[in-house]
Amino acid sequence: MTAPLDLLDLDSLLSDEERDVRELARRVADERVRPFVADWYERGEAPVRELAAEFGKLGLLGMHLTGYGCAGASAVSYGLACMELEAADSGVRSLVSVQGSLAMYAIWKYGSEEQKQRWLPGMAAGELIGCFGLTESDHGSDPATMATRARRDGADWVLTGGKMWITNAPVADVAVIWARAEEGVAGFAVPTDSPGFAAREIKQKMSLRASSTGEITLDDVRLPDSARLPEARGLKAPLSCLTEARFGIIWGALGAARDCLATAIDYAGSREQFGRPIAGFQLTQAKLADMALELQKGFLLALHLGRRHDAVGLRPEQVSAGKLNNVREAIAIAREARTILGGDGITDDYPVMRHMANLEAVRTYEGTDEVHTLILGNAITGVPAFRADGSG
Ligand SMILES: Cc1cc2nc3c(=O)[nH]c(=O)nc-3n(C[C@H](O)[C@H](O)[C@H](O)COP(=O)(O)OP(=O)(O)OC[C@H]3O[C@@H](n4cnc5c(N)ncnc54)[C@H](O)[C@@H]3O)c2cc1C
Repeated sequence: MTAPLDLLDLDSLLSDEERDVRELARRVADERVRPFVADWYERGEAPVRELAAEFGKLGLLGMHLTGYGCAGASAVSYGLACMELEAADSGVRSLVSVQGSLAMYAIWKYGSEEQKQRWLPGMAAGELIGCFGLTESDHGSDPATMATRARRDGADWVLTGGKMWITNAPVADVAVIWARAEEGVAGFAVPTDSPGFAAREIKQKMSLRASSTGEITLDDVRLPDSARLPEARGLKAPLSCLTEARFGIIWGALGAARDCLATAIDYAGSREQFGRPIAGFQLTQAKLADMALELQKGFLLALHLGRRHDAVGLRPEQVSAGKLNNVREAIAIAREARTILGGDGITDDYPVMRHMANLEAVRTYEGTDEVHTLILGNAITGVPAFRADGSG
């Protein structure tokens, strides 16, 4: 890491093994993503299957899980990999987060041995793609009110409803679907070739364009009981998966921010106005100094949470603190970097505007700023303020 991006020598806090994982993820991002991603973004598509196969070969899918072909890496190593992938593009990091922390984690944590054997090795290898369907078009921040239903019919289950904004859904082989059953929220590992299952690509996105996002319809999808995740009981199960995925975002967002800062430093050094490089103006230096400080503070926060995660685990409000702060600051860094690039900053010759637009989706998914603020407010005061009537 060059000095301007690591003013405080925070690299010295990482082990050799952690630096090796970071190097591996950086290399694949530099070679397989960076040269092509502006074009994918322009076209609004990404080669999800090819990327998954590539990442699978390197052990980056479900890398923090153990067994079933997963790498069993530490939380810090996983975070560093997220950071490097998101330095190339948030959509590519989203692919890896959804595959590993949402779809694979749900099956790994709540699935039967048969489900784990059936899905996890192929997903770790990137041969099978997974998605995670919790959000619905009318139920986003408040999934407790979900409308998708799972009803018993003899020995089978029948799923009816729909899911919205589901990353990887159009290309997935298996969808982890959360639905309301008589006994509460239940999870299902649904093969996407099941009759009645359909996923359409959501095309009209101005953010995360190098990521596949879909709307799922479940039209009386009939499943054997063996498709139900036996250990998942209630909404706590999908929420625990979100906590896993949010951890990766705490690191990932910093990757996008770092790439914006590096681009702005480079640009400011070579762009001349009023007879000198714009890096020589105090106003530019004030922007760069603030950006560098927030980046380093964000890294310290991520690393602290990563070390706690590896040592004793994290409480959900600690993950909320990290996601809220680091995505918010990453957006601020991207916007400031954009100003330094002037008109060039709005083109796809530079990655800044793409990162900035991507981070808007990152800010919204896995809990919006407002939801994380309410989680923190609840932890601080002991009073939940999610519902107007004070019931939760
Ligand atoms: C690109 C993309 C990919 C996604 N991938 C997935 C995926 O793979 N799987 C999945 O299940 N979901 C996914 N999502 C969905 C995402 O998690 C939701 O968009 C998110 O939870 C917000 O829900 P919503 O969009 O319905 O907004 P809403 O919940 O309608 O929120 C709208 C606004 O109201 C605010 N608000 C809501 N409740 C309160 C409150 N109590 N107090 C104050 N303000 C409040 C919100 O903070 C927000 O600002 C994805 C979304 C996007 C954009």
